[in-house]
Amino acid sequence: MPRTSSTNPPYSETVAKYVKETNSDPTVVATEIAKYGASLGMSNMDFVAWHWVKKQGLQPPPLNQAAPFTVLDKPYISMAEGLKIATNTGYTIRGYFIKGKLGSTKKGNDMFVFTMVDESGARDVLVFGDKVKTAADFAAGLKKMDKIRLTSIQTMAGKDQPRPALSGGVYTGYTKIVDDHENVFKLPKFTDIAPTALKELEVFETALVRGLSYSYEIAKYTGCPNCKTKFRDNTAPGRPAECNDREYQGNKKKGCGIVTATEMAFTTLVVVDQRFDVKLKFDPDQALGEDLLRDLTDNLKPVWAVGSLQKNDTFRVDWYDLESNLGGPNVRTDTGTGLPTPTPVSTTPTVPTVTTVPVQGTTPLPSVTANPYTNQTVTINVPTAIPLVQPTGDVQKLVDEDLMEYMNVFQTASMEGVLDYFNRRSVPEEKAKSVVLEAIMQKKIAKDGNTIRKVPKA
Ligand SMILES: [Zn+2]
Repeated sequence: MPRTSSTNPPYSETVAKYVKETNSDPTVVATEIAKYGASLGMSNMDFVAWHWVKKQGLQPPPLNQAAPFTVLDKPYISMAEGLKIATNTGYTIRGYFIKGKLGSTKKGNDMFVFTMVDESGARDVLVFGDKVKTAADFAAGLKKMDKIRLTSIQTMAGKDQPRPALSGGVYTGYTKIVDDHENVFKLPKFTDIAPTALKELEVFETALVRGLSYSYEIAKYTGCPNCKTKFRDNTAPGRPAECNDREYQGNKKKGCGIVTATEMAFTTLVVVDQRFDVKLKFDPDQALGEDLLRDLTDNLKPVWAVGSLQKNDTFRVDWYDLESNLGGPNVRTDTGTGLPTPTPVSTTPTVPTVTTVPVQGTTPLPSVTANPYTNQTVTINVPTAIPLVQPTGDVQKLVDEDLMEYMNVFQTASMEGVLDYFNRRSVPEEKAKSVVLEAIMQKKIAKDGNTIRKVPKA
């Protein structure tokens, strides 16, 4: 039987008690509660008011001994079915756990995101409020592909929510499904789940995809071992380097400080389905190894992945596995000792040609050529008195003030480092190059290959 009574006392009762006890302005209280509800992404105002009062350090009216909202009278529903359920109705979902991560709402409150897969595909479940910690603790004890069951899930919809989303709150229960011998939860085999067609992926929407691997690229770089950020200067691996504070698309991010520069790589694996292809992007922690990548692409092996399409058209992978590991069509049968391993059938279909983009190096300075006959530092022998082109006032200022200030600190630097330094000062690359060229001509700096050094005053 569906239950309709709420555990929280009605909004009006909670607010009336608070207003009476604190002698507050009811309009102000209502506004504060509404703001709090919005910050939680919760439209259940009975709960929001109750919890807001508690946060003010006061005692709200006692909870009723009943379910939080209408409870769907089914052992579970699929996540896609859940999204069609009216708000304020609780239901149970179950699926394969992929990933859990802490995040924050637009208002800066904590939230926890479960990424799950069931027969309807991959989706995120957003958990708000006091139970964020409970959710995080639960997820910390899980392995990828564990089967889990979440109760009292609600559908969240509203003006801040362009599409309905699955959400959990204070009443949500978390269980790991362990021995489901009776198959009560009827989770389909992973490989029986229909993946999202690659052509239909939406930016930032979590999705399950499957494709045949046909090309890969490994982009090695030197970066920070903690946050994996690439160092713009060509710091040698094993050397100390500073992971700076930075700003990306308006978001400020704190650097990790002095760290040991480490070589790592981003791996891209291009997969194709019946109609389209997509570049799966793996971060350095997910390194697949070149042997595996070659095997996958040479034999057009299918790969499953959960993640989301990014604005640059790559698919950021949160989880992946090979179809053979998931019990899919070309699953390897276990072979006992002495039994020959079955030879994998290899096919040679026609695949589209992929052009791999080489990793961009440093652009050489125009009109500065290295002396091919010596390994010594090359300076351009132009008398300072007659520059080829009279530098415009601001180029000279950039030479004397900005560039020399930088060189006074570092003495030697990479070309990339100097360009990056000017870039952070909003000096376009072409102009920064002309500043460097000007400084070379004025014998203030010398350039040797990619290295720039300060020329001591004679
Ligand atoms: Zn870092």
